[in-house]
Parts: sequence; structure tokens; C-alpha cells
Amino acid sequence: MELYLKGLRQGRSTYDFEIPSHQLGEWLRDIDELYSVTDTPCRVQMSVDRVEDNLMVRGEIRVEAEFDCARCLTHGGFEKVLPVHWTLLPRAGVHTDRLTEDEEVELSSDDLEISFYSGDEVSLLELAREVVMLEIDAAPSCPDGECTETPTLKALHHSETGARMDPRWAALAKLKEDMERN
Ligand SMILES: [Zn+2]
Repeated sequence: MELYLKGLRQGRSTYDFEIPSHQLGEWLRDIDELYSVTDTPCRVQMSVDRVEDNLMVRGEIRVEAEFDCARCLTHGGFEKVLPVHWTLLPRAGVHTDRLTEDEEVELSSDDLEISFYSGDEVSLLELAREVVMLEIDAAPSCPDGECTETPTLKALHHSETGARMDPRWAALAKLKEDMERN
């Protein structure tokens, strides 16, 4: 889903498109391998308001996904509507040549909703990807207080192999390691 600035009129244009579930799956697995997708494509609705070469993008992304909880590995699912509030400024217009590289990075990261584009092309698909990467939790988990209390073999195995180790299992994993060593 590309916007070509040459053909984009001033004022509002609206876009409605779908992201195939396999594409959404790739994005989610970049966040955490515990995510998986359903067959439902991801629905994106955006309006783009153009004022001169500044673009204000508003809208929502409907994401349906499944996951294994990072704490207890219970399988769950969710449907989320991610808000899109993004301002895109032409890189040429902010006189980046006068900024050092550090200042430029600061300008972008201080306000996550502003980014810069260069050239004549803006990818709404790439924008949707950035929203998903920012808005979806880094590690999926059951709603607060709903994790299963009992450790399962699978959860123990995961905590041994994965980077995240629930402190409750750490002692148990160490005990198992010690037993295997002897
Ligand atoms: Zn859980």
C-alpha cells in the first residue's frame, strides 16, 4: 500500500486495506515467537490529511492473534484495535542537513508519532508495521492474575530454553541442572 506524493491531493484521502495473516504473523514473530495468527486478515483503515507536504495519518488497525503466555504458556487469544496517530514530515523540510546525526535521532525518538519520509513515496504498509511493533506487548501474557499457578513441564522447558526465566522456576531449573550434573 504505497502513497505517491505526486498523485496525492491536498486534503483528506482514505484508505482501507487488509494485511494477509501470514504477513501479520511475520511481524508478530519478530516481536515474540510466542505469537501466532488466525486466518483472519488484519484490517487497516486510515485517513491521510495532506497539508503541503506534511501528512497526518489517523485510523485504526484491527489485529486478531493467538499466543502462548510467556509466564505460564497457557494458550490465549486477543482482538485489539490499535490506534494510528502518525505525522509524517518530508525529511527535506526539517533541514536535517543542519542537524548532527545525534540531534536527528533525538528529534525522531522524542515523539514516536512523528517520522520523516524522503522521496515521493510513503508506504502505509510499513507504517502499519511500525504501529503493530510499537503497540503489541513485547511478551504476551494472560490477563493479570489469570496465569495458571501450577508449573507444567512445557513451561519449565520453555524457561530453560528461552531468554526469559520466571523467578519462580529459576530455583527449580537450577535444581534440575544440579541433578543432571551429578
Ligand atoms: Zn499465563
